[in-house]
Amino acid sequence: AEPPRRSYSVTLLPGDGIGPEVVSVAKDVLSLAGSHEGIEFRFSEMPIGGAALDLTGVPLPEETLAAAKESDAVLLGAIGGYKWDSNEKHLKPETGLLQLRAGLGVFANLRPATVLPQLIDASTLKKEVAEGVDLMVVRELTGGIYFGKPRGFGTNHEGEEIGFNTEVYSVSEIDRIARVAFEVARKRRGKVCSVDKANVLEFDTIVTNNIFGDILSDEASMLTGSIGMLPSASISESGPGLFEPIHGSAPDIAGQDKANPLATVLSAAMLLRYGFGEENAAKRIETAVIETLNRGFRTGDIHSYGTTLVGCKRMGEEVLRSVDSEK
Ligand code: ATP
Ligand code: MG
Repeated sequence: AEPPRRSYSVTLLPGDGIGPEVVSVAKDVLSLAGSHEGIEFRFSEMPIGGAALDLTGVPLPEETLAAAKESDAVLLGAIGGYKWDSNEKHLKPETGLLQLRAGLGVFANLRPATVLPQLIDASTLKKEVAEGVDLMVVRELTGGIYFGKPRGFGTNHEGEEIGFNTEVYSVSEIDRIARVAFEVARKRRGKVCSVDKANVLEFDTIVTNNIFGDILSDEASMLTGSIGMLPSASISESGPGLFEPIHGSAPDIAGQDKANPLATVLSAAMLLRYGFGEENAAKRIETAVIETLNRGFRTGDIHSYGTTLVGCKRMGEEVLRSVDSEK
């Protein structure tokens, strides 16, 4: 008899700008990679961000949050655009993303930074340094100085005016982020570095607080030199995770079939690995991305001499071809 197929529900939140273009590609890649590994997906698509504002008047409709919470994982495109830039704060598209993160209770943000040998020319680093960069920043997302209390202004003992903020973490908050980091490292090279001061190590997995995590993951992404390639995952205690490319909605190239879909495709791979523990399917996607690059296909953001310039759709088709050609 056929082995029972594993079945997962995934909420797709395409969002704004290039979001719909890259999510559409990632959905197809997820489906195909899943079908090779005995996995099937039930997809539902919901509005968020500017698209939701235009449709419903709010950046995160109740139905969208409810669908996201009920599903096994959430795949998000990008949010925001010029059109809504002058909106009041609570009517900004980006508010929808903050509400979604809070609603899902995602407390750990996983940001890999990998320099693929195929794209080493795109890195801001010297080749010798960029070579082999492959690290993961595990950033605490719900605590720390962003939410610090007490904060405010006052006077010190000398009567001088001061400003202050407080970094507070409970033992349980540190416990849960550390657990995530160790689990992540176990799937990687088994090394964790806790960042609280300058260390000189061979990094593999870095676990850190909210603010250092923000800085480090942005810096790490600069190393790789290609924002269109970088995925992320945000993990909750027991509910669905949130998976999204680190880039924004890139309104300058939206609707032109120019976006690099690989960051979102790689986010789909993270969804399989960290959301469902489906390592084989995750690997299948990552291998297909590398194979597609090996076959010379590049979108504009990673294009260089001697490679084949393609659009978002075509890049997607080539990744599908690569997924199918794996054993
Ligand atoms: P955020 O919305 O997160 O604040 P941002 O608006 O500063 O980010 P992005 O939208 O991420 O910036 O994009 C900055 C520029 O990088 C874009 O204008 C676009 O030219 C380019 N870019 C971003 N993502 C991609 C992609 N997937 N493919 C190609 N180019 C991209
Ligand atoms: Mg933006």
